[in-house]
Amino acid sequence: MAYSAFECLTLEQLVERVENGYTGGGKLITKAYDFAEKAHSGQKRKSGEPYIIHPLFVASIITELMIDPPTIAAAILHDTVEDCEGVTVEMIEADFGEEVARLVDGVTKLQRLNFADREEQQAESLRKMIIAMSRDIRVVLIKLADRLHNMLTLSFQPKDRQVSISRETLDIYAPLAHRLGMYSIKQELEDLALRYIDPEGYKNVAQKVGMKRAEREENIKLVISELSAKLDEAGIRYDIDGRPKHLYSIYRKMVIQNKPFEQIYDLIAIRVIVNTIPDCYAVLGIVHTLWNQVPGRFKDYISVPKANMYRSLHTTVIGGRKIPFPFEIQIRTWEMHKVAEYGIAAHWRYKEGSGGNDTLDEKLFWLRQILDWQSETRGSHEFIDGLKTDLFSEEVFLFTPKGDIISMQRGATPLDFAYRIHSHVGNACVGAKVNGKMVPLDTELNTGDRVEILTSSASKGPSMDWLNIVRTQQAKAKIKQFFKRELRGENVAKGRESLEREAHRRGVKLGDYTKPEYYEPLLKKYMFQELDDLYGAIGYGGVASGYVLTRLMEEKLRHDEKNAPKLPPELPEVGAAPKNGTPTHGVYVDGAPDMLVRFARCCNPVPGDDIVGYITRGRGVTVHKADCVNALHSEPERAIRVSWADSKTESFVANIQIVCYDHASLLGELSVFFDEMKIPMTAMSVRINKNKTVTIIMTVNVTSRVQLDGAITKLHTRSDVIEAYRSNA
Ligand code: MN
Repeated sequence: MAYSAFECLTLEQLVERVENGYTGGGKLITKAYDFAEKAHSGQKRKSGEPYIIHPLFVASIITELMIDPPTIAAAILHDTVEDCEGVTVEMIEADFGEEVARLVDGVTKLQRLNFADREEQQAESLRKMIIAMSRDIRVVLIKLADRLHNMLTLSFQPKDRQVSISRETLDIYAPLAHRLGMYSIKQELEDLALRYIDPEGYKNVAQKVGMKRAEREENIKLVISELSAKLDEAGIRYDIDGRPKHLYSIYRKMVIQNKPFEQIYDLIAIRVIVNTIPDCYAVLGIVHTLWNQVPGRFKDYISVPKANMYRSLHTTVIGGRKIPFPFEIQIRTWEMHKVAEYGIAAHWRYKEGSGGNDTLDEKLFWLRQILDWQSETRGSHEFIDGLKTDLFSEEVFLFTPKGDIISMQRGATPLDFAYRIHSHVGNACVGAKVNGKMVPLDTELNTGDRVEILTSSASKGPSMDWLNIVRTQQAKAKIKQFFKRELRGENVAKGRESLEREAHRRGVKLGDYTKPEYYEPLLKKYMFQELDDLYGAIGYGGVASGYVLTRLMEEKLRHDEKNAPKLPPELPEVGAAPKNGTPTHGVYVDGAPDMLVRFARCCNPVPGDDIVGYITRGRGVTVHKADCVNALHSEPERAIRVSWADSKTESFVANIQIVCYDHASLLGELSVFFDEMKIPMTAMSVRINKNKTVTIIMTVNVTSRVQLDGAITKLHTRSDVIEAYRSNA
């Protein structure tokens, strides 16, 4: 096994540590050990060691990070479900409780995902996915400890496995450890991975560093003794040590930053740990008096911590004659040191603050803040609770069959997934498999699911009820788009037909209602461009034809009313004809007593209305209401003065529109009503509306405006009448 700062504890040592933190906690650990030893009995690691060494080592690492009996027990049990015949999560739960079982289950699920050989750009998603899958950060801690021990024993694996596992470690697990602030694990993972990924580079750096080892150790001793003397003099309590920096960081500087080995200052790092922050700055002052500062190398991470919570003072100095090369000194408190070494796992004891710069960092930062707040007020149980927090409660992370990761909102279905891939995939979707099994299209997807969409070129496209299945706006929009666009021609024809059928059913002519002034408000409401869009919407079932027709009829009504001018026409000079000579049809025509008189159908004037006549070619005089739109648009030079003859015998046609509640005796009652008023009805059209009302247009004969207005006023007194008015229709 490669060298590690962590060491494998015996069961007795583990129990002792746990008992120090949790009296009685050792029992669970012993029980877990017995279970795991039995389950793994006969199994050997590739190194030839008994398998139990592996979970014992993983548990030892966890114990260094934090003392939490369930997590340590889960670490001991972490491979039993995956690797041992006949061991299930249910068995773990029965023996160790729900919490331990959940942790083991989490690690097992992560185990089953093969992250090796992923694209670089997916690494960040994978890290998020690991955290999302874990739901509980303690699962990630166990996974990191597991990975560290596997890396320590990687030399027993075949060559190709060594490389792919190392790559995965460098791409995914080391950065994850970094994000969690677990530096000691991160550094070991990096150094171990480098050994397999670039054996030459590793050897090169190791040799260069190694060649100077004796010299470096001598220098470390010199620096320590000089600085210690000054610190003693100043009466500061401190701990000082020096160590070579880890290989991967030197390798990065040499290979990636292309710096010559000689320019790498931090081959050795001297670390001074003190009790308080003022002591940190006091030590810094002493260091800068003792040696010459290298400009631009001083960093104050105490007042401005790194995003991952790291805090410390860094400075690089040149040691003068005795130590003729630059070296770095880090100064921090014990609290900061613990955080630097163990990251968030150390946070339940120490409070820190920091800022984040990407979403994962922000989420972890948020988690840390909660942990800090809890540690301040409540203690370590709350710290553990904080680790259980699901950082990605709004997102699920899914795999395509090729292994690409797609993140979607929680609740997403295979249909959402299909439309996320491409609208063609969505439109041609005929089924879906999740983790290899056929599932209904409305199945809710979970993080880690591998989703395969089955498509068919024979598919007729989405169905309307897909709109009720999909959860994402994107999928909804694409389905609607399909109906609007891809089937447009068909839908437009279907929609127009359906609307025509509806008009026929109501006994009206559709053409009377499909004028721009009537349908434009509807287009505006649905944000359609043209009438065909409206037909299309009816065609695909987006809008009901009955509703559209009712709206069109209402619009026509509103429009007609609005456009009936309320003011007298601008033809007052026409005026009324003098009442001399013989009236024709109850009307005097100025200076032309023998003219043929007709009443215009558009406005149906009755005595009492202001009227105007127009001479028509070969037809005599047509009498309009003075405010009739058609009259206003006629040629003024053909206007002629007319006036009513106040005849008591002539009758005139008028239309009354009545909107009323429908009931069985309605028409009978209305007929009696007009009969009693001595107003003959000559025609009637009835339209039944959706809301249990009917619209009736009644054509009657009246002798005067007074009689007509009287009838309308009386109609309004009926309880079944909603409105009644004179209509020109
Ligand atoms: Mn393992």
